Amino acid sequence: HLGKALDQAHLPAVTKDGHQVIVAANVEGVSAAPEALKNGAEAVGLFRTEFNFLQQTKMPDEETQYKSYRDTLDAFDGRPVILRSLDIGGDKQLPYLDLPYELNPFLGVRGIRLCLKNRPLFKTQLRAVLRAGYQHNLHLMFPMVAKKSEIRAAKEVLEECRQELIAEGKPVAENMPVGIMIEIPAAALLADQLADEVDFFSIGTNDLSQYTLAVDRTNPNLSDLANAFDPAVLRLIASVINAGHKKGKMVGVCGELAGEPLAIPILLGLGLDEFSMNAPAIPIAKQIIREMNLADTKEIAQAVLEMETPSDVRAYVAQKYPFLN
Ligand code: PEP
Ligand code: MG
Repeated sequence: HLGKALDQAHLPAVTKDGHQVIVAANVEGVSAAPEALKNGAEAVGLFRTEFNFLQQTKMPDEETQYKSYRDTLDAFDGRPVILRSLDIGGDKQLPYLDLPYELNPFLGVRGIRLCLKNRPLFKTQLRAVLRAGYQHNLHLMFPMVAKKSEIRAAKEVLEECRQELIAEGKPVAENMPVGIMIEIPAAALLADQLADEVDFFSIGTNDLSQYTLAVDRTNPNLSDLANAFDPAVLRLIASVINAGHKKGKMVGVCGELAGEPLAIPILLGLGLDEFSMNAPAIPIAKQIIREMNLADTKEIAQAVLEMETPSDVRAYVAQKYPFLN
């Protein structure tokens, strides 16, 4: 199937019964653009900005960040780009930040928690983002959000940066959509409330699985337990999609699950709007979507929510669609 999938990578992802979804790429910067575009990426569903920071010996200044974001947006040529604010902490440490030792870094000062504690770091990035978004299709997303007050606080800092830039006479993004990652069970459970504060959700199934199942995603001895096909995780995904849609908000998945062939019918059937994955997975994912009937996938999705184990889920989907195995 791979040859055909590559040839047709530029075609849209529309099911046989006419339902279209967005297939997007996860990227770390401008250098990923040629491969992503060749593979048919229609958008960037996750721009992991922390890699710009991990590669440096000191924090990149506003101008450096601005150029790097602007270059990435230009390389994607008007396609929507969801830029994620810094997700440092957990397993990603920055030597020049001198973060205190933590017993449980994955439950520690990470993502939006770190940014809200370190205003200069956060504001430098947000100023660069607002400037880069001027006349570009830039969407901003906050990681590791657990509660509404964090979204409000982050949006206040964003507004402060916008006012500063305007006062300095610098052009800034207008009407930039702001979303959050749903990767903490509390956020998934309260998604109906959080939806009031944002324009979109993107479900991070890597962390959502780790936190739902209490399984460290980096522990090789637990790799068989860290499974996003677990019905516990799938039920959370289903309820986040429903909660978002009830409030008219777009919902994507940018964790590894979005690019797993056996997960695609499930996520389609749950009503997912955007599938974001590593570029090499895009052509096959689009081809799989074109082989599906939305009506069938809805039944499959409802069935797997009642199952007991990840292997039951996988076996069921594989038996429905043997070509996915
Ligand atoms: C996730 O948690 O699923 C995700 C996409 O973010 P990251 O893998 O960068 O933590
Ligand atoms: Mg994550």
